[in-house]
Amino acid sequence: MADPAECTIKVMCRFRPLNNSEVARGDKYIPKFTGEDQVSISGKPFMFDRVFGSNTTQEQMYKASAQMIVKDVLEGYNGTIFAFGQTSSGKTHTMEGSLHDPDNMGIIPRIVQDIFNYIYSMDENLEFHIKVSYFEIYLDRIKDLLDGTLVAWFSVFPQGCTERFVCSPEEVMDTIDEGKANRHVAVTNMNEHSSRSHSIFQINVKQENTATEQKLSGKLYLVDLAGSEKVGKTGAEGAVLEEAKNINKSLSALGNVISALAEGSTYVPYRDSKMTRILQDSLGGNCRTTMVICCSPSSYNEAETKSTLMFGQRAK
Ligand code: ADP
Ligand code: MG
Repeated sequence: MADPAECTIKVMCRFRPLNNSEVARGDKYIPKFTGEDQVSISGKPFMFDRVFGSNTTQEQMYKASAQMIVKDVLEGYNGTIFAFGQTSSGKTHTMEGSLHDPDNMGIIPRIVQDIFNYIYSMDENLEFHIKVSYFEIYLDRIKDLLDGTLVAWFSVFPQGCTERFVCSPEEVMDTIDEGKANRHVAVTNMNEHSSRSHSIFQINVKQENTATEQKLSGKLYLVDLAGSEKVGKTGAEGAVLEEAKNINKSLSALGNVISALAEGSTYVPYRDSKMTRILQDSLGGNCRTTMVICCSPSSYNEAETKSTLMFGQRAK
């Protein structure tokens, strides 16, 4: 078994390609990739565990940034994978991608497939129980996406959150589709809403060796964070400003936790936000944490991209 002492926080950085409207506007492609682990923006270098250019495939991304965590979860460790970045930078593409298209599947469906492939390959003495939960955090309220209700907050989570037992990758994909449909309820603009809320998909793997009675339990949180962009100083008021302040607060609480963990600090401020309290037992300590920093390559987004890259560097 891997040694918990060697656990670290891994930070991966992925640039999506320029999109059609960026090309049409004449935006420049600004990242310069100066090695496997370094990217420069206007001459300023940023270092990560790995940096991925715009033609990186979903499979390459998965193998380099998430596959090792599956092994850890099956060995009884907890873990968390986040996607961080401004709206439209590729977070959902990276975490989910196309759930039903083998080539374009993102990290979540690939993890699910690998977990089930492992189970199918094991001998009969091992009994597995896989359950999933799916919820979102919006304005500090937690919505259970598998039954559409708000979850009461008792400081111990996930009391009252639906846990769905699943027996195949297809069943997990159906569960995700079901949850996404619940996200639609009462919102007119799905993209806008999803970029203002954090979505958290949890997979819990319990296994028991029926011959030796040895038990193992590991879980994984897969988090598609709210867009990290700053709201313009002018124009934002009322509900929009309230949302922006809230997102800002929860992302900076997350940044503070990650950087405290990265520094090996004895005090980690988990209690500063609901999200970090929920993730507490799967962040730091004996856990595997990977942050995927998602960036736009366009000159138009340069300031936002730099601030995204700086956020990622705090974790190193
Ligand atoms: P976010 O979730 O960060 O708001 P999305 O993942 O929805 O952003 O990405 C915005 C758009 O860009 C989507 O249409 C998505 O398919 C596309 N996209 C994102 N990343 C890539 C990539 N690496 N390669 C190709 N298309 C991408
Ligand atoms: Mg998204």
